[in-house]
Amino acid sequence: MTDTPAPSAARLQAALTAIREGGLAAQVSTSPSVLEAHSHGEAMEAACLPGAVVFARRTEDVATVLRACHANAVPLVAFGAGTSVEGHVTPAEHAISLDLAEMTAIVEMNAEDLDCRVQAGLTRQALNARIRDTGLFFPVDPGGEATLGGMCATRASGTAAVRYGTMKENVLGLTVVLATGEVIRTGGRVRKSSTGYDLTSLFIGSEGTLGIITEVQLRLHGRPETLSAAVCQFADLNDAVQTAIEIIQCGIPISRVELLDDVQMAASIRYSKLEGYQDLTTLFFEFGGAPASVQEQVAATEAIALSNNGLAFAWADTAEERTRLWKARHDAFWAAKAIEPTARVISTDCIVPISKLGELVAGVREDIAASGLRVPLLGHVGDGNFHSLIITDDTPEGHARALELDRRIVHRALALGGSCSGEHGVGMGKLEFLETEHGAGTLAVMRALRRTMDPLNILNPGKLLPPGPVYQG
Ligand SMILES: Cc1cc2nc3c(=O)[nH]c(=O)nc-3n(C[C@H](O)[C@H](O)[C@H](O)COP(=O)(O)OP(=O)(O)OC[C@H]3O[C@@H](n4cnc5c(N)ncnc54)[C@H](O)[C@@H]3O)c2cc1C
Repeated sequence: MTDTPAPSAARLQAALTAIREGGLAAQVSTSPSVLEAHSHGEAMEAACLPGAVVFARRTEDVATVLRACHANAVPLVAFGAGTSVEGHVTPAEHAISLDLAEMTAIVEMNAEDLDCRVQAGLTRQALNARIRDTGLFFPVDPGGEATLGGMCATRASGTAAVRYGTMKENVLGLTVVLATGEVIRTGGRVRKSSTGYDLTSLFIGSEGTLGIITEVQLRLHGRPETLSAAVCQFADLNDAVQTAIEIIQCGIPISRVELLDDVQMAASIRYSKLEGYQDLTTLFFEFGGAPASVQEQVAATEAIALSNNGLAFAWADTAEERTRLWKARHDAFWAAKAIEPTARVISTDCIVPISKLGELVAGVREDIAASGLRVPLLGHVGDGNFHSLIITDDTPEGHARALELDRRIVHRALALGGSCSGEHGVGMGKLEFLETEHGAGTLAVMRALRRTMDPLNILNPGKLLPPGPVYQG
């Protein structure tokens, strides 16, 4: 005869007792406002209150919490800054939300080797501010004020990925607490190693389902000697896309190339008070390196843009102007939201091989026109990655219309050899596309791996993998 498991609310209380007795009583909160703040991220999926929030300060705190959750089969979701957009941080019922945002130390700085080790709750902006005087910086820049642990967990990228790569290319090693509470270290400080399975890469993009990252060894980069930024506007969206494609195909080592279509540009001009621009599709460029290299990049880019009917380049010469321009780009989501403040903005995310980008964008524009919805487009076009910001009524019908459009966009991208997410990840929002993208056999391997790492299914259940044989969600 087997024992009937205790109801989940009782198991939660047992885990919380163990956590308090483990020395973390002052770090546990059940205050309604704290629970609410941890009930959702930036997604449209329904929120769910966690049973409690625990604020971790060190790796041992995370181990204490996981041991208690494992012993009582209590689900747990890691919470960095909560900026993820696919329902990643929404807790399961009677779950603990483990907040890592107080873990902000730089554990080790090795400027001479261009690497550092940080606690997982440090944000990329805070890291760059603190290491400014070393002449080094960390380049991966998702829009929100995200934590480096959250960025690892979503395999984040952003505007600088075209030059510096994503989190996958910029993380050397990790400290991870496994589902049982055991602590492991993966990778190290060296730039390459051919020993054993690459567990660092396994945890990058695992969305808190295989273990909780508490420390990250990061690659740093030297600040370019010269930086230069420019903007070029186009009467025709296709010409702008073709310009981005040719820049990449010609191997110009551009630092950033970002597209805002005419609808997004109109919104950004209003929201960010950009002066001197028209409501036209626009490419934002940044060039970095030694002065001679920057000059070469600029000349080659200008020639390509002009041959594709680009209007004259507008230069942002001073650091202040460059910051203003890139802040406007990073605020694009909020600019789109300001178009209809009471509406919902749903950010889609798909990616195709760069040569297919023109075909994808043309098809997506047809889908948008047929949907009757207002949808600014913006993208990290140098990577073949772009977002449609679907503006819709914040009602079930509005959400359904937006999801239908999102599905069409994703299926177009998949048919062109792309992926349903270039950078936002799966969470709950992209679950339905995974089998089409990866195939049943590959999903079976992923499920088996997850089951091995987390046999009780306590780590962020219901995210990243659709239910199926071996893993029931
Ligand atoms: C306006 C806006 C613009 C954005 N632009 C971009 C962009 O350009 N590129 C991009 O990649 N993303 C972008 N995002 C999405 C978001 O910023 C990223 O997904 C970011 O990496 C999430 O980090 P976070 O700290 O907020 O993580 P959270 O949202 O807190 O968590 C995300 C996931 O990671 C898990 N997690 C968090 N911390 C840990 C940890 N220490 N260990 C294990 N798992 C953990 C969580 O459980 C969850 O599954 C944007 C979001 C917004 C709102």
